[in-house]
Amino acid sequence: MFKTPFITLVALALQFSLTSITSSAADKKDAAKIKVLLVDGQNNHDWMRCSPVMMETLDATGRFSIERAIVTKFEVEKFNPDFSKYDVVLSNYNGASWKKETKESFVKYIKEGGSLVVVHAADNSFPQWKEFNEMIGLGGWGGRNEKDGPYVYWKDGKIVRDDSKGRGGSHGSHWEYKVIVREKDHPITRGLPTEFLQAKEELYDRLRGPGKNMTILATAFAKGGSDRHEPVLMTISYGKGRIFHTVMGHSHTSMKGVAFQETLIRGTEWAATGKVTFPSVTATELPVDRAASREPKDIKPFK
Ligand code: ZN
Repeated sequence: MFKTPFITLVALALQFSLTSITSSAADKKDAAKIKVLLVDGQNNHDWMRCSPVMMETLDATGRFSIERAIVTKFEVEKFNPDFSKYDVVLSNYNGASWKKETKESFVKYIKEGGSLVVVHAADNSFPQWKEFNEMIGLGGWGGRNEKDGPYVYWKDGKIVRDDSKGRGGSHGSHWEYKVIVREKDHPITRGLPTEFLQAKEELYDRLRGPGKNMTILATAFAKGGSDRHEPVLMTISYGKGRIFHTVMGHSHTSMKGVAFQETLIRGTEWAATGKVTFPSVTATELPVDRAASREPKDIKPFK
């Protein structure tokens, strides 16, 4: 059925509650901003409280304009946005499979140079979707095991790909874990302290997946979990697309961790543009001797 652009937009809004935190008065100013589509609406985590922290964090920098697609299980069959309208898709989604048409459109978008940011349990989603698992590099739960790819971790100064049998995805108890930058010469990590603490939360371990075209930027030691240095920040290339994957971000409180916020900001800009233009983050702002947290409103705007 033919639809005019206006009707399509209205239909889109009705179908999956597309909302925006930018006002129409700011539309002109927004033209230069990085356009983000945050997708949520289903997750085994508290997406209703988590997503606003991410939106406010990105918005506080002044660098991003954010739209949100709330894809509940009742709306997933209707979800089929024009991904090409956005510079980057930010997934906080861990739910029902998207319909075939949407998945194909998303793969095309990424292959042709689109961008994806995957946060925490978003890497639990779509265990059966081969292309998505290639995009995220590593994933957990959903029946993932050795059939999905190796465990990938850091040992004795290098990356290990471990094909041993076993489940994909687990975690120990909640604690303030130390993130260690392993790839210092990447736009996301250049300008970050080499070690810093993340706010109290669980640390994913034993993720597995194809891990192709993947760079592990930072790891953390999964004390009481796998007892291995597990990937925390990763980049993956897929076709012409750029993907940033962070395992941080379990809760709305841990998303107020400066470690989560600064890596989300830099990772989202890098995924969208291939560059990071934000200033360096000092060890005072992002320390290793305590887990720094702040409200998104206290983030300085980008200049
Ligand atoms: Zn979690």
